[in-house]
Amino acid sequence: MTETVEKDGWMLCVATDVTGLKAKTRAVRQDRDLAIKASYTDELTGVANRRFVTARIDDMLQPPGGQTSAGCLCVLDIDRFKSINDQFGHQTGDTILRDFAMRIHRLVRRTDCFGRVGGEEFVLTLPATPVEQAKLILERMLASVRKSRPLQERPDFGYTFSAGIAGAQPSDTAISLYARADRALYMAKLAGRDQIHLDEPDPDRSAVAG
Ligand code: GH3
Ligand code: MG
Ligand code: MG
Repeated sequence: MTETVEKDGWMLCVATDVTGLKAKTRAVRQDRDLAIKASYTDELTGVANRRFVTARIDDMLQPPGGQTSAGCLCVLDIDRFKSINDQFGHQTGDTILRDFAMRIHRLVRRTDCFGRVGGEEFVLTLPATPVEQAKLILERMLASVRKSRPLQERPDFGYTFSAGIAGAQPSDTAISLYARADRALYMAKLAGRDQIHLDEPDPDRSAVAG
């Protein structure tokens, strides 16, 4: 609203209706917020996506203040997922993926980050957490998934997952830490699945690093 007083005493008022403009600004802001959220969310499961969780691995290895991080990286992979898809179809496979993400997400602490990095492969960062504690957290997750019965039409159907855990070493990069967690996952699969495996640091490399 602008007001101008004329010489002869009349006041000229000009009013502009900005309701539409305000609504537009609000819509643009909401769209921007949704776009930001979508950029770090996995569409199918609603947990973090690969880009977001990868950035959290870097954060864990370079904590603010430069102090050495004692954290763990875990790679989680649903067991025999291909045969679940083959048996029940891709849509049911997606239901299992959502059930898995929801169950694990419930057990994740505020400081941790859990994300989907590929088909049925997920990553969990556990900053400032020793491997013994990481193992306990993952055991709880194994138990929760083991008792899940996600298919209404098949109330007897259950599934499992396997996980590899690697404790961050001072010499680690995101790539080397991920490779060790992935190797541990492979060992858990080889050992029969539905279990976790801890990567044992190479004593020679630890000596060099420490
Ligand atoms: P393992 O126990 O060794 O991990 O065996 P697996 O069958 O789980 O592993 P494999 O890598 O052989 O199969 C993974 C399957 O996941 C194959 C692929 O079709 C399926 N998949 C990948 N992405 C999706 C998805 O978004 N939805 C569904 N339903 N299936 C997916
Ligand atoms: Mg699998
Ligand atoms: Mg896999």
